[in-house]
Amino acid sequence: MQIPGHIDPVPVPRAITPREDGRVDLLGLSRDQIRAELESAGLDAKQAKLRAKQIFHWLYHRGVTDFDAMTDIAKAQRPFFAERFVIGRPQVVEAQVSSDGTRKWLLRSDDGQDYEMVFIPDADRGTLCVSSQVGCTLNCRFCHTGTMRLVRNLTPGEIVGQVMLARDALGEWPKGTMAASDEDEDDDAPQYSPDGRMLTNIVMMGMGEPLYNFDNVRDALKVVMDGDGLALSKRRITLSTSGVVPMMARAGEEIGVNLAVSLHAVTKDVRDEIVPINRKYGIEELLSACAAYPGANNARRITFEYVMLAGKNDSDEDARELVRLIRHYKLPAKVNLIPFNPWPGAIYECSSPERVRRFSEIIFEAGISAPVRTPRGRDIAAACGQLKTQATKMSRAELDRLAEEKQAALG
Ligand code: SAH
Ligand code: SF4
Repeated sequence: MQIPGHIDPVPVPRAITPREDGRVDLLGLSRDQIRAELESAGLDAKQAKLRAKQIFHWLYHRGVTDFDAMTDIAKAQRPFFAERFVIGRPQVVEAQVSSDGTRKWLLRSDDGQDYEMVFIPDADRGTLCVSSQVGCTLNCRFCHTGTMRLVRNLTPGEIVGQVMLARDALGEWPKGTMAASDEDEDDDAPQYSPDGRMLTNIVMMGMGEPLYNFDNVRDALKVVMDGDGLALSKRRITLSTSGVVPMMARAGEEIGVNLAVSLHAVTKDVRDEIVPINRKYGIEELLSACAAYPGANNARRITFEYVMLAGKNDSDEDARELVRLIRHYKLPAKVNLIPFNPWPGAIYECSSPERVRRFSEIIFEAGISAPVRTPRGRDIAAACGQLKTQATKMSRAELDRLAEEKQAALG
């Protein structure tokens, strides 16, 4: 079957837009990159190393954006930094809070690209859903992001910036003084306490395919995991891929976070249709790469995401085949069943609740965990994979194209 759909858009690699005032934004840079910036600004190697370490800590551990707040840097030296550098944040276009506590932000880059992030609070954790690209090149047929033509990789600063902004919004930077400040010590300040925060987990499940922006995602997550900065454990970070097989081993080795795989179908025909990257890297290849994923074991299982599409991938037979595949490849796995979240122009419908329940039971009966993910933030269209929906008004041409595709797919 010829599957309708537009030609894959290509991400536009782009140099960081220089600021009009000529200053360099340090957000997203590693300690070494900050050191290199300080050296090119004229500091000698020893000074640059020391100041980079201090700035890194203020920037990522304390959430400071003003050099004047960096109390262990001599007052007289602070203007030197402020004249040459800034510590930025993504621009917030819109911030929404759902009745269930889910929050969604629409963000804008310096070159006017919009992307989103979502925060989902739960009883025992708070998960930030982070975007890796503006749009996505992969055109999964149930995913709204895949219909966006404009695609650009997000920079490490834009990826880390999402986490920083969430910490800002949740008011989660440690307060109080740090030891070893050489001036402006304030003995009355509250003691520093990093505990009890809401943002505990990160999932790379927003807009985009993280493994098609590998270097920036890796560099950003390294900054997020750095123990002297944001210090999120790799066990609390999950990267979701639609199945970019050649990059999966590197993801395990160079990033080492939990892996989620958007499987969504168990036969070649159906997966070719709904997750078109399957035509390049098939189910067998994908599951072999999962079996070889470094660090996967029973304590750290691979999550298979499975979006429930009525009459498409949700039969008892599909569920049994899923169990067979997981056993055949001896995968330490759990399955996340995701009720399909419709968007204007989508050609699928969500499976009925009874169907979802039965599908889940069959997998559970085989001893594999298969919870149904409750949709969150529906009133603000905050579901992962469905970002930017309400904020974007679709153009006439876009609506026409979707109608055309829908017609072709049904006919
Ligand atoms: N590109 C990566 C990560 C972003 S998508 C990937 O595909 O894995 C995050 C998850 O949301 C994926 O499992 C995706 O399949 C799912 N998703 C996308 N659109 C959806 C929709 N309309 N309803 C429910 N889940 C959706
Ligand atoms: Fe891209 Fe993931 Fe959406 Fe597929 S599901 S189009 S890979 S964002």
